[in-house]
Order: sequence, then structure tokens, then C-alpha cells
Amino acid sequence: SLAAAPLPACPQPTPIPPLAEVVGATAHVPLCSGGSVRYVNLDYAASAPALAAVAGAVQAALGQYASVHRGAGHHSQVTTVRYESARESVRAFVRGRIDDAVVFTRGTTDAINLAARATRGDVVVLDIEHHANLLPWTARERTGGSRVVRARSTIEGTLAALEAELAAAPAALLAVTAASNVTGEVLPIGRLAALAHRHGARILVDAAQLVAHRPVSMVSHGIDYLVFSGHKLYAPFGAGVLIGRADWLDAADPYLAGGGASAAVTLDDAASASVEWRSGAARHEAGSPNVLGAIAIAAACEALAGIGFETIGTHEAELLGRLDAGLAGIAGVELLRIFDDSTDRVGIAGFVVDGHAPREVAEHLSDTAGIGVRDGKFCAHPLLQRLGFPDGAVRASFGLGTGADDINRLVEALHRLQA
Ligand code: PLP
Repeated sequence: SLAAAPLPACPQPTPIPPLAEVVGATAHVPLCSGGSVRYVNLDYAASAPALAAVAGAVQAALGQYASVHRGAGHHSQVTTVRYESARESVRAFVRGRIDDAVVFTRGTTDAINLAARATRGDVVVLDIEHHANLLPWTARERTGGSRVVRARSTIEGTLAALEAELAAAPAALLAVTAASNVTGEVLPIGRLAALAHRHGARILVDAAQLVAHRPVSMVSHGIDYLVFSGHKLYAPFGAGVLIGRADWLDAADPYLAGGGASAAVTLDDAASASVEWRSGAARHEAGSPNVLGAIAIAAACEALAGIGFETIGTHEAELLGRLDAGLAGIAGVELLRIFDDSTDRVGIAGFVVDGHAPREVAEHLSDTAGIGVRDGKFCAHPLLQRLGFPDGAVRASFGLGTGADDINRLVEALHRLQA
């Protein structure tokens, strides 16, 4: 009978669960009203939580852990294999060329400082960069000059300005971000690489904010040097990567002088030694390397490749749509944007709230809703100035461990602030 027929399912708004398990996802934090609430981490652009898969790989590596390269013992050999194969995982993840050097560094900042030491000749940078991709270049004196080009209000205009700059005077390198850490806007790295190459320059891409969100192919994008940090890629702090053409790196002085970088050392007298430096990654990795950091990065690369960037892109686009729609509905909230014509954005929303200092907004979110966001100038002072917010802004950013509930909580808390 009709009465016995099953009722049609009630339409529900599509739930968006987290895409992957991250460490600490169920941790609770205190609220100022008393009690506690599940912590909502919306600060992935600063440091993403570690993937459970990454934590597992680090735990396994700790179980057979010994010094790399020079030990004959079994654990040394196992750790050496893990460390060296981490380079290959990174190379595969970003589609590096077979002869690219994969140098493990302390992070993006460290990697760009290393690249700056290895670059001879002028370097062109944009004024929208994170300080990590600005100050190592402006600080160069010995090996060349640096020219800072002002980004225009469109990507097309910015490409034209860079084209004009490179045409006016030759440069060795264009050093550019792949995605803004303030607005999340993605730059067309393939076009930037072609532009640099047209004018005889190489390109270094700061992919700190891109690699966790979009597939990168050094080969198809034409990237000469790529840098990123493990802690924005679901691995813990302390390790990063510089991958790229070996000739400049082999011609440069070792980044650090010490064991591991040196193949043979003879002491001439008390004050001088003649040293034969190694080539390849070892040349710039003196000292005991951060093996666990490298293993963690490799595990993150493998985990992301396993999930697939199509799935990751869909997840993040759904969350970003929800976040943008939510923010658009709150009085006095303004989203930061560099370009009028950008069409792609990673999971970052930089915004200001009328009538409230950025720190006040961040504290409100933490104290009343257990949400962690970043406020300030995001190590991009020139960009904040050019956007008209010299006192800073608020940044919410997310990734694989984020679900729709987290976005909803942010939007509701901002509504309460503006009520
Ligand atoms: N470049 C960009 C675009 C960043 O967002 C960051 C960190 O926020 C960095 C470079 C510096 O990374 P690290 O602090 O890991 O060296």
C-alpha cells in the first residue's frame, strides 16, 4: 500500500567531510566562555597539519634510524636508502628532470637563499612576493643586482611589465611565486617560464603555497628551479627542497662548509685547507642532514599523489566556494585580491573586517569558536601596502583535513562578530 512505501530521502545540503586524516584532528581547545571545542585549523598556509600517513612514515623510519651515508651498519644503510629515495619521490612528485639536483634544505627560505648564492647576474622579482622570495635577492651584492618589478592590477598587465623589464636589460633569473600566500591567487607559471626563457633568463618558482594544492610539472611548465617547504605540504617543520638545474649549483661555493660537502681535505698549515668539494646535492648539504624531514616530505608527496590532484582540486574548490559565499554575506568583510583577472585560487582567503583590527578578529575566532587563523602582514609587507592594508589583514586557509563544518564555523563566528 501507499502507506508502506518508503519516504523519499530528505534533501540535505551536501556534506563535505575532510579528504584525508591529519594528526590532531580531534584535539580540543579551551574557549573563553569556559568549556572546550574541537580545534578548527584554518591556518594551513602557515603550516599544514601532518597527514597521518606522514606521521606513520616518520614513526617507521625512527624504528631503524641511524646516520646516513657513512655508516656500514644495517640501520645506516636502511636510512641512507630512505633518504636518497626521498629525493626520487620528490622528483617524481614535481616531474623534475632526471638530471636535476634535488637538494634538501631547511625550508623554502633556506632554499631561496641557497639559490641566491648560486645565481650569477641580475634577478627580476615582483613586489607581491613573500619576503622569502624578495629579501635573499635584494640582499645580493657580490654576484649581481636585483630588479623589483611592480605587479599590475591584472595578470596580463603583470606579464607585460615583466616582458618589458626582461627585454630592456638581460637578467639571469626571474624568481616568482606560484601562488600568493596572502590571496591564494595562482600565477600562470608555464607562461612565466616561457617569458623568462624568451629573454634568455631562467625561472625559479616559489611553490610553497602551490605544491599541496595543484599538480606541478617542472618539465611541462618549463621550471628551472622549484622550491617548497615540507610544513606546508602536510609534513612537519624543518625541511624543504630546492630542485633544479645542476650546473649553477655545482659551480657555486657550497652553501655550508663542512663534512658531507667535501670529498677530500688536506690541511696545508694551521690556517688553510685545500678542499675538493663534491658536486650534486651533497655539495650543499654539509652536516648531518634532516633525514626525518626528507622522509616526511617524500611520504607527503606519495600520499598526495595517491589521493590525486583532481580529487584534491574538487574538494578545495567546494570548500572555497562555500567560504567565499559565506564571507560575501557578512557586512563589512572585504576579500583581498591582487589581480582583477585571476581565475584560479588555492584554499586561502585574505580578508579584512570593517571596524576590527586583524588581531581582534583572529582573537575573537580563537576565543569564542576555537578557530586558528593567521593575522598580520604575512611576511609580505610590500604587498599589504600596495593592497592598501599596511596594518595587515586576516587569513583563513585550509586543505585536506578541512570539512564544510569548519568553514561553517568560521562564517558563523564572523557573523556573530558583526551582529
Ligand atoms: N614563500 C611563500 C609563498 C610562503 O608562503 C612562505 C611561508 O609562508 C615562504 C616562502 C617561506 O617558507 P618557510 O618559512 O617554510 O621557509
